[in-house]
Amino acid sequence: MGLAMAARTDNETAFVRDLGAQLRSDQLSVEAAVRTAYAVDQGPILAYAEPVAVVWAESIADVQTVVRIAARHGVPIIARGAGTGVSGGAHATEGSIVLSLERMNTILELNAADEVARVEPGVVNADLNTAAAEHGLMYAPDPASYKVSTIGGNVATNAGGLRCAKYGVTRDAVLALDVVLADGELIHTGHRTFKGVAGYDLTSLFVGSEGTLGIVVGITVRLKYLPTDIRTLAVFFPTVQSAAEGVLALGRARVQPSILELLDGPSLQELDLRNGSDLASRGTALLLAQFDGLAAAQEVEIAIAALTALGGRASQEDPDEANRLMDLRRHSRGMDVDSEITVGEDVAVPRSQLVHYVTALEEMAVRHGVGVRVIAHAGDGNLHPTFHVAEHTEESVAALGRALDESIDKALALGGTITGEHGVGQYKLRWLGLEQNEDLLELQRGIKNYFDPANILNPGKAIPARR
Ligand SMILES: Cc1cc2nc3c(=O)[nH]c(=O)nc-3n(C[C@H](O)[C@H](O)[C@H](O)COP(=O)(O)OP(=O)(O)OC[C@H]3O[C@@H](n4cnc5c(N)ncnc54)[C@H](O)[C@@H]3O)c2cc1C
Repeated sequence: MGLAMAARTDNETAFVRDLGAQLRSDQLSVEAAVRTAYAVDQGPILAYAEPVAVVWAESIADVQTVVRIAARHGVPIIARGAGTGVSGGAHATEGSIVLSLERMNTILELNAADEVARVEPGVVNADLNTAAAEHGLMYAPDPASYKVSTIGGNVATNAGGLRCAKYGVTRDAVLALDVVLADGELIHTGHRTFKGVAGYDLTSLFVGSEGTLGIVVGITVRLKYLPTDIRTLAVFFPTVQSAAEGVLALGRARVQPSILELLDGPSLQELDLRNGSDLASRGTALLLAQFDGLAAAQEVEIAIAALTALGGRASQEDPDEANRLMDLRRHSRGMDVDSEITVGEDVAVPRSQLVHYVTALEEMAVRHGVGVRVIAHAGDGNLHPTFHVAEHTEESVAALGRALDESIDKALALGGTITGEHGVGQYKLRWLGLEQNEDLLELQRGIKNYFDPANILNPGKAIPARR
């Protein structure tokens, strides 16, 4: 395997040798191609370094072993699920090891009466849903990456998704966690019951902590009923503003979509270009709504009336067309692989500010001479504007940066947040201080220091270092 060849310092050589003594050879790689493949996630890259090695844990005991050896050698550990993160949270750093949880992919228990499942962290979101469906149940949080991303990664980023409009985000679905701490100790947080207030809510603290406080090795989630009826509505509007107004109109009509996605004109055009669809010919902006449950048919009728009154042209879609539209929406993130000339954002604003914010985005794009297209989990006020420029020049990249910064400032000014669901990772560190003051950041550094005094768990992510 050439272990010594790839290791760069004596400590790293000794570290890899110690790992090799505890793990099977197919659980450890120092091969250049493997280290390159596991070095970054799908987020923009500000900085990364190829890891010293990649390790595949197959059990909790493996994770504990790796963490203990890494702690002894002071080697940073980058936990990794499927690597679909888009904030650079899983980018490897200097002298680090990537600890892949992808092989810990067993559904340990699915209890239909209790409506809970216990899973290992590498279980793919879609696989849990397939298993739950056999019992008439579902795991509701469904990031658009659900076919590949892992429950462990979803937990570490507090992932959102399309169905979150009705069912809430990952944190709302997680009841209990098994976590390996920075010294290798295994703890169990939370409870298997839906209710529970015993002790501090450490489960919620670990959810969204991006691998900086502990390695999640087991997850107990709450399942929901698989709806018996699903109705899908595509409503095309003459302006993106009127589509955004539709979100509030549905609220006033007191109907609860399970999915409520918004796509602006440039997004529809881009999808058409890439998929041969004809969405842009049907309107300037699309509100894609889904209603589920026994009242779905009734809710759709109410929604049609409310949205038509705003100038929308509504059509109820049959299941095949509904699936096609939802798939197109899910792939809309995939068409924007982040680079220096294309950056997707993840702000959230109070729903009442949606119309104002989409207008501001259009204006700032024009002012900075960059392009923007917007897709949004509109029911949650969570927007993914993608700013882009045609070519890579010093000036165009600077203009892109200015537009991005202004989009963040504006979201915060409207009472929003810099990240609705993707996490701070590495890329959004520079903006966190705009949202949270130094005292709050310092408190969080204290928490990090308590859990990870040697700073070996995904260092330099999620919370900015002291200035
Ligand atoms: C096409 C596409 C669509 C997407 N759509 C959505 C969406 O709708 N909603 C959404 O929220 N996100 C979305 N994302 C982002 C991404 O899929 C989510 O952040 C997802 O939760 C990451 O899961 P993963 O298994 O790929 O984790 P990774 O990318 O491997 O890791 C993400 C973070 O979690 C940490 N981590 C991973 N596993 C563990 C563990 N077991 N213990 C501790 N820390 C861990 C990593 O260190 C890293 O910081 C999308 C991404 C793509 C590429």
